[in-house]
Amino acid sequence: MEDALRQLRERLAQIRNLSKAAAVLSWDQKTYMPVGGTRARAEQLTTLSRISHTWFTAPETGELLRAAAEEVRALPYDGDDASLVRVTQRDYDRATRLPVSLVAAMTRHRALAQEVWVKARQSNDFATFAPCLEQAVEDNRQVADHFGYEEHPYDALLDQFEPGMKTGEVTTIFRDLRQDLVPLAQALAGRSDRVNDSVLHQPFDEVQQERFARTVVAALGYDFNRGRLDRTVHPFATSFSRNDVRITTRYQPNFLSAALFGTMHESGHGMYEQGVAAPLDDTPLGRGASSMVHESQSRLWENVVGRGRPFWQHFYPHLQETFPAQLDGVDLDTFYRAINRIQPSHIRVEADEVTYSLHIMIRFELELDLIEGNLAVQDAPAAWGLKMQEYLGIVPPTDTLGILQDTHWASGMFGYFPTYALGNILSLQLFEIALAERPSIPEEISRGEFTGLHGWLTEKVYRHGRKFRPQELVERVTGSTLHAGPYVSYLRHKFGEIYGL
Ligand code: ZN
Repeated sequence: MEDALRQLRERLAQIRNLSKAAAVLSWDQKTYMPVGGTRARAEQLTTLSRISHTWFTAPETGELLRAAAEEVRALPYDGDDASLVRVTQRDYDRATRLPVSLVAAMTRHRALAQEVWVKARQSNDFATFAPCLEQAVEDNRQVADHFGYEEHPYDALLDQFEPGMKTGEVTTIFRDLRQDLVPLAQALAGRSDRVNDSVLHQPFDEVQQERFARTVVAALGYDFNRGRLDRTVHPFATSFSRNDVRITTRYQPNFLSAALFGTMHESGHGMYEQGVAAPLDDTPLGRGASSMVHESQSRLWENVVGRGRPFWQHFYPHLQETFPAQLDGVDLDTFYRAINRIQPSHIRVEADEVTYSLHIMIRFELELDLIEGNLAVQDAPAAWGLKMQEYLGIVPPTDTLGILQDTHWASGMFGYFPTYALGNILSLQLFEIALAERPSIPEEISRGEFTGLHGWLTEKVYRHGRKFRPQELVERVTGSTLHAGPYVSYLRHKFGEIYGL
């Protein structure tokens, strides 16, 4: 290996070690740490992130990148070395563009806003949170100015989570999708008496819930020799290396779906991280390509597989054996319909497959208006209500059930929300190609056999890590750009059948 590239790799591995050590501390904070540890843990995390940021943005990193770029110039674009230099140069350009003073101010604002938001949400008091939201909007405008953009300041914000994606592309995709989803959601809401999900709302022993969830995700391909499942309040997945990828879940004693589908969701994130090729592991390429691609995997395993009929043809008898008192008299069809009940609701994280993306569009449109200055923060709750009425046909009775429900804006994150809906869209685009190339997948799933699909995804998506920009990856795998066609026809077909449309 050439000298600058070798030195660059060593430097990046050190920086990665620091950020992965921080990830362990953060995982511990959300799973096992006693509440008394909060202040000390915040200090530890701040120190580690300051050191790794300083090392990464130092002029030495820039010099090594320049020299390494010369060394890899003749190497293939999709090779490990050329990709490493290309992607790291991008990260470096971004990281060095924000002034340290702005980063520090935003960290302070975020910490303050988080506390204010928790209380405002509890007491349904948007007015006390409004100044924090104003600050977050102002901070994000500044971030956009420092990052730079050609067409829209929101491009710069979106780019943090979805490298290369443009606001105009999201607007077009969402506009088309909305035209299909709104009438579909309305038609299904008009037939809500056709599906009853009371079978899911019974007492389910938590130990048994956990045992069953473990069996399921191990069967899907989540490797417990390189991972673990723990309890938390807000479930997440995190990776310390491809050989140590952790997932978390929460159990509701009177509702089966939360832990069951939540664990499948996180196992999708986990399998992606476990599937990154070994040589990328200690480099900045050793993780998922973007928020959208990550979410496409969690959604694919949770919904396309986990809420599909073939999956339950295999697993339902096992579930009945696990919970005989609750499920003995319930046939497969009743259960399948129950887990696929569509119902417009206020809370995004509890939304079903059809209405979920509509929740996202509302947040995306409000973010755009706020960043553009077309919407004053004080008018945002009313705008939220109007859009809920228009897209979902319901208006939140309180701000707690409306604009105060999500933590993203309190965390200063603008540009993240769209990636959830884009992930839904991509999950079906990928699944459609997987089926075309391996038509036996549904039949395999109905036998509890997942290596065909898991192997296909590993080959096409997982092993590449962050080598390619998300849309580059989509085109390499599917041969086309991101589009909602497969997602819409999947929803129409699946729910048309369940609801007799
Ligand atoms: Zn997710």
